[in-house]
Amino acid sequence: MLFSMHHPNNLIMPTTSNSKKTAPAKAATKKKSASPANAGAGKGDSLLQEYFVESLQDVYYAEKAITKALPKMIGASTSSELISAFEDHLAVTEEQITRLEQVFESIGEKAKGKKCDAIEGLIKESESVIEDTEDGTATRDVGLIMAGQKVEHYEIATYGGLVQLAQTLGHDKASGLLQQTLDEEKETDELLTSIAENNVNYEASEEKE
Ligand code: FE
Ligand code: FE
Ligand code: FE
Repeated sequence: MLFSMHHPNNLIMPTTSNSKKTAPAKAATKKKSASPANAGAGKGDSLLQEYFVESLQDVYYAEKAITKALPKMIGASTSSELISAFEDHLAVTEEQITRLEQVFESIGEKAKGKKCDAIEGLIKESESVIEDTEDGTATRDVGLIMAGQKVEHYEIATYGGLVQLAQTLGHDKASGLLQQTLDEEKETDELLTSIAENNVNYEASEEKE
């Protein structure tokens, strides 16, 4: 799960040659990281640890941005099922922010955000759905569901990677917390699919210009 769009140079791929400058982090002369059994302990200086923290900052920023975007999406939705799905997810997202703060704390880092360009783009897309569709239509709901699912998929990819990194780095508590959020994002994605399939898509197909 280490395909980074943000910092490809920070990845330590086991299959690459030893000639890279990433060698010191793994060098046997360093006591802390010499043994695999010691993996996770005292990794404060590893490149992967640094990348992990930056990725947490990215998703922390993203979750906060989502709490600002969801009220607009709720206000623009028509289906009562969709409205309550977005409302529930807003409450869940607030908890996810608190949970991320616990993740930061568990690894001895201060919680802070770092601009996530992807979420900015996805939120812009949800705003253009609202601009490009008529108020009170199921067609707009279809667009909002798709926009919402793009956000969930971005989060699923992000948290999926973070859970794996936390495990690799030996941050068991962080891994468990991140897994909880990952499960919530997957649930929301499935709920949005079922709202689309059960009602909204069909209703939209009946709408005329
Ligand atoms: Fe989230
Ligand atoms: Fe990002
Ligand atoms: Fe989400």
